[in-house]
Amino acid sequence: MKILVSSCLLGENVRYDSKSSIYSIEDLQLFNKIILENKVFSICPEISGGLLTPREPAEIIKNQVLTKTNENVTKEFIKGSIDSLNLCKKENIKVALLKAKSPSCGNNKIYDGTFSGILVDGMGITAKLLIENNIKVFNEKQLKDLYDFIKNYS
Ligand code: SF4
Repeated sequence: MKILVSSCLLGENVRYDSKSSIYSIEDLQLFNKIILENKVFSICPEISGGLLTPREPAEIIKNQVLTKTNENVTKEFIKGSIDSLNLCKKENIKVALLKAKSPSCGNNKIYDGTFSGILVDGMGITAKLLIENNIKVFNEKQLKDLYDFIKNYS
């Protein structure tokens, strides 16, 4: 099955802080299995939208995306989300594995906009657009659910 994956989950240094994401051994094994058994398409919506690495952290505040120093990066985040959706449409991708808690990729929790580490229910800009377009989105803490979804889909 074709699957869209956040670039930073694949070890690419595209995050705002230039780090990639780390897994537990169990998660890494399941992650590797998913990656090897499926056709992976990787994207970092924020880089695709025109932002650089490293960059300032950003959070969603009242439907806008602002950096810690109040720069409005909403346009870049929206472009990244449209690029991600276009890739899914072009390749007929129906499922995505996106990084949790990101203002682009988070699928169920995001930071509350105060830059104080508080999580609230909500979705990142890209995750939301994909979900609205019937693409199933999982995060790296939901690998088992993703694995089951792929198994049942085919
Ligand atoms: S936008 Fe998504 S892919 Fe890019 S660094 Fe943030 S979480 Fe990772």
